[in-house]
Amino acid sequence: MKKVVKFGGSSLASAEQFRKVGEIIHADRDRRYVVPSAPGKRFSGDTKVTDMLYDCYNTASASSDISAKINAIHARYQEIIDGLGLELSLDDEFQEIKAAFENQAGSDYAASRGEYLNGIVMAAYLGYEFVDAAEVICFDEDGVFDDEKTNVVLSARLAGSDNAVIPGFYGAMPDGSIKTFSRGGSDITGSIVARAINADLYENWTDVSGFLVTDPHIVKDPATIETITYRELRELSYMGATVLHADAIFPVRQEGIPINIKNTNRPQDPGTLIVESTCRQPKFTITGIAGKKGFCAVNIEKDMMNSEIGFGRKVLQVFEENGISFEHVPSGIDTFTVLVHQSEFMEKEQSVISGIHRAVHPDMLDLESDLALIAVVGRGMRATRGTAGRIFAALSHANINVKMIDQGSSELNIIIGVRNEDFENAVKAIYDIFVLTHL
Ligand code: ASP
Repeated sequence: MKKVVKFGGSSLASAEQFRKVGEIIHADRDRRYVVPSAPGKRFSGDTKVTDMLYDCYNTASASSDISAKINAIHARYQEIIDGLGLELSLDDEFQEIKAAFENQAGSDYAASRGEYLNGIVMAAYLGYEFVDAAEVICFDEDGVFDDEKTNVVLSARLAGSDNAVIPGFYGAMPDGSIKTFSRGGSDITGSIVARAINADLYENWTDVSGFLVTDPHIVKDPATIETITYRELRELSYMGATVLHADAIFPVRQEGIPINIKNTNRPQDPGTLIVESTCRQPKFTITGIAGKKGFCAVNIEKDMMNSEIGFGRKVLQVFEENGISFEHVPSGIDTFTVLVHQSEFMEKEQSVISGIHRAVHPDMLDLESDLALIAVVGRGMRATRGTAGRIFAALSHANINVKMIDQGSSELNIIIGVRNEDFENAVKAIYDIFVLTHL
């Protein structure tokens, strides 16, 4: 068996955390390829090394002295090196980094050094080979990730290495300049490495024991999701659930490699298993609840709209011409609603309104702002009757008015629109009826 293990910043924030990581890796010989993040927060209120690097680089860009900031970053690594009792010096690296910052090497280069240096420390600690991501994670000349080239280069490189550390978050463009993924991008690197070596499992180690059924800021101590499919996860991540970077799913999904989200501080917990498909039914009919605030509904009414061929296209074209993506389009016999992100829509609203008037001559057009969307997601819904009924009963008991309903044809999710101020109560009510009453 071959496993790729990715460790997040909080798992690598201190020597103590590094030790836990070392124990985890040594406990299973299949854990052969390690993808580290940069050191994260050691305590709440602490600063992630990546943020220190961005900040330091901004100072360098303003041509101010960065010595103190570079030293502070160096100290973070030195604390780990000393705590682990390693014979390792990063003096040369820091000298080079300082000079590169002063020569405006770019903010991607700057941010990537967090993972690069942590990779060196990790490789020294484990006695594994260090493989610089700049050599094996390829971006094209426009800075777009080149998955096929990377797959060829990376699998050839790792074929010659039984155990290796590959830093997360960055790669390089054809001219050698460093390019990073978006924030949290080490998850993507882990997934790319798992694909390249045809791993049996991609373990993603973090500081929570897997995905929670819903946001712990809304529901106290929510249950953990044991198994989730890629598609369910995509729905939940899209609607705001974080833990894993949304783009981390694609590389492993292409090969059907499962991802296991695990907790470095509680390795005995099973965590969450993310799979292509499974016959394991979720414990609670629904797999998860996620949502976002800040949507706006553009409601359009026109008599006989249904018989007017091309009506929907003309309306949506107005949004397209204004560069606005739409979220949902619930429609009735003489009504058509377009749901959009309020922040994106706001500056273009007048241009969209006049565009719709010109395009379809509606009888009535109004805007309703401050709406929230809640996605109730679960592969178990397809086989269960009454899920929608239970959701709406729960919301009505909680005195919440439902503004919009949309059930995807996959029957994998039901999207509900409520007012922003009802959002938290709505999530709680749905959680209670499906999960709390079944624990
Ligand atoms: N260190 C980077 C960040 O803070 C990437 C990562 O941790 O995945 O976003």
